[in-house]
Amino acid sequence: MKLLEDRIREEGVVKEGGVLKVDRFLNHQMDVGLFREMAKEWKRRFAGAGVNKILTIEASGIGIACIAAEEFGCRVVFAKKTQGKNLDGELYTTQITSFTKGRVFDVIVAKKFLGPEDRVLIIDDFLANGCALEGLISIVRESGATLVGCGIAIEKGFQEGGKKIRAMGVKLESLAIVESMSEDGITFREE
Ligand code: 5GP
Repeated sequence: MKLLEDRIREEGVVKEGGVLKVDRFLNHQMDVGLFREMAKEWKRRFAGAGVNKILTIEASGIGIACIAAEEFGCRVVFAKKTQGKNLDGELYTTQITSFTKGRVFDVIVAKKFLGPEDRVLIIDDFLANGCALEGLISIVRESGATLVGCGIAIEKGFQEGGKKIRAMGVKLESLAIVESMSEDGITFREE
């Protein structure tokens, strides 16, 4: 999606350790007009799929997922990160290793918010090694809901996540796929 790629080129900052900072427009300060265009693009790519629930993970997926949910006309649930307390039978739980923080989190979703009647689109800001998506996918599977696919804002194509998720047979739609990045510049995979 050219609009997003241009914005990444203009305002993204490449950090050490393969981290791309996009906090000027995506996950700290937020450009909701851009989110609207991204949501429309996901709507186009998942047209006719009958999405009736969007699932994301706190914190940085929530903004884009809310605008996407408005576009799809459905509700949005966000998985919560916990420190392992209050885990009871009313919750779906999984564990996720954070790429940026290098820590393992328990992640929970209340069972009452996800079930067999749901057709779920997972939305997140970044795809790196795929751990966050794998965790969210396992929660969808456990709930008996149908996984329609995953919509990602920025996939880092030089990490393993995209390959892993596509190999699972999951429809994965990333709006910008970074092929390489350094202080000298960022290149994107051609669509
Ligand atoms: P994964 O689980 O695919 O390794 O990493 C995905 C999660 O890590 C995303 O939810 C995102 O919050 C965070 N993340 C991964 N790579 C980056 C990055 O380059 N920049 C930022 N800002 N977040 C990232």
